[in-house]
Amino acid sequence: MITVEGEPIEVIDAHSHMGARKKLAIHQIPPIMKFMAEDMLRSMDDAGVDAVVTFAIGVGEPSDYRETNQYIANAMKQHPARIHGFMRLNPADGPKHTLEVLEEGVKLGLKGIKIHPLIEKTPANDKEKVYPLMEAAQHHGLTVLFHCGLGEFASPKRVGEVARDFPKLPVIMGHSGLVEGVREVVELAKKYDNVHMDSSGVGWLPFFCESISWAGVDRVMYGSDHPFNPMDWEIQKIVKHAQGHLKLKIEDLRKIMGGNIRRLLKLA
Ligand SMILES: [Zn+2]
Repeated sequence: MITVEGEPIEVIDAHSHMGARKKLAIHQIPPIMKFMAEDMLRSMDDAGVDAVVTFAIGVGEPSDYRETNQYIANAMKQHPARIHGFMRLNPADGPKHTLEVLEEGVKLGLKGIKIHPLIEKTPANDKEKVYPLMEAAQHHGLTVLFHCGLGEFASPKRVGEVARDFPKLPVIMGHSGLVEGVREVVELAKKYDNVHMDSSGVGWLPFFCESISWAGVDRVMYGSDHPFNPMDWEIQKIVKHAQGHLKLKIEDLRKIMGGNIRRLLKLA
């Protein structure tokens, strides 16, 4: 819980990572090889974050993320009010194996899916490798978060096609497409009701403020990409710096800081 303008605001981080790896993936510095539940809970307590959506840390070698998905499901069982786990999937393994991992994730109680089209070297809208997973996700009522931006396989256009073709599937465009993609992501959110975006990594304040004003307070959610970015950076970016310009009503700020992800995941 944090306090803004004298009002308590619940904070749910919509984008964070947990797990261990033997080889780095995209982020080289800091060279984080391991970030486990106890580390996450410590960071949350330091920043006033009530709960996190968390998924496996990307690995620089082929993996089906099964082990980390199980670890995260376990952590969620131990801290049900604070940790909401998503399964990470690697569509490059092909639909047969990946659907097995997906069904296992559903049985473990995981609430959504994270896909990183660049690390997993598969276009976000791959009809053969990704669409069967989206079909199953929609069937099970899961939310899907795609890393969005930084490379063509993860372009807003490709993730937008997934949102268009699966209208009942809540889609979160991770990092709002980053700085170069944020305006396109906003346009997609205006077009498709199921498009949402998380704030992590949108480092240019004017674009970030525009995303809230133009896509609407129901579509943007606080996410940190912790442990790669500090949780409190993103919190301050929204509740201090963006709020300084936007002067949102407290209830709208509450949606961004936790209410929207609470609604998508149907949390009590
Ligand atoms: Zn991330």
